[in-house]
Amino acid sequence: MTAGMIDEIFASVQGEGPWAGQRHIFVRFMGCDLRCSYCDTPEPVKVHAGEGQQQPCRAQVSAASFDREPVPNPIAPAVLTSLCSRLVLPGPSRPVVSLTGGEPLLHEVFLKEWLPSVHARFIIYLETSGIHHENMRHLAGLVDVVSMDIKLPSSTRERPRWEEHGTFLSAAGGPMLFVKAVVTRTTSDDDVDTAAQLIAQHDRRLTFVIQPAGGTFAPDPKDVLRFQHHALALLDDVRVLPQVHKVLGLP
Ligand code: SF4
Repeated sequence: MTAGMIDEIFASVQGEGPWAGQRHIFVRFMGCDLRCSYCDTPEPVKVHAGEGQQQPCRAQVSAASFDREPVPNPIAPAVLTSLCSRLVLPGPSRPVVSLTGGEPLLHEVFLKEWLPSVHARFIIYLETSGIHHENMRHLAGLVDVVSMDIKLPSSTRERPRWEEHGTFLSAAGGPMLFVKAVVTRTTSDDDVDTAAQLIAQHDRRLTFVIQPAGGTFAPDPKDVLRFQHHALALLDDVRVLPQVHKVLGLP
């Protein structure tokens, strides 16, 4: 049996993209192979992908409480199911479990084992950097919504990932898919145009969310509007949205 390295499990509102404002149960996996300049995930969470690491998961104790308790890592699938289930509110709606990170697709083997056991109960929402297309293909049919990042090199200050993103757009076909790009004060028009072209080559009807970074990375609002105007020349639905949970002071 596989086990997952998980940093935290908690309930909050989804803060990004077209599903913003909905109540989600978040499962934050450890480990990320990128180092985006604007990243707000603590470095230890990004490097601790291996199961040998002993940092415990911080798990919210109930739907009615903000308190958390440490749970030893790695976490077995049945334990994760129970940690998510105790955060479900009573009611008719199917709860949403948001897989986030770090990069959840680095835990593909664990997810392939865990997701079939919970997919009927939870809507599975995947937040990903949009690079690991092979792992995405392996999870076909197990994920309902894909929030795919396009990493703009002028925002991340990392090398371009256009080819991986192009392949990922095809690999993620099937679930509900939308694309998000974080823009900062260093984002170039060329990068936003290239991202919009890439999406349009796949499907011009896909929602493209332009998400301004905050704090010292925040872009000039006039630049953000120009990015949207340019992208709307190629795509039907381009939205500018902030991270709502940060505006509300929520985790
Ligand atoms: S992909 Fe996400 S978690 Fe990884 S460095 Fe970039 S912003 Fe941080």
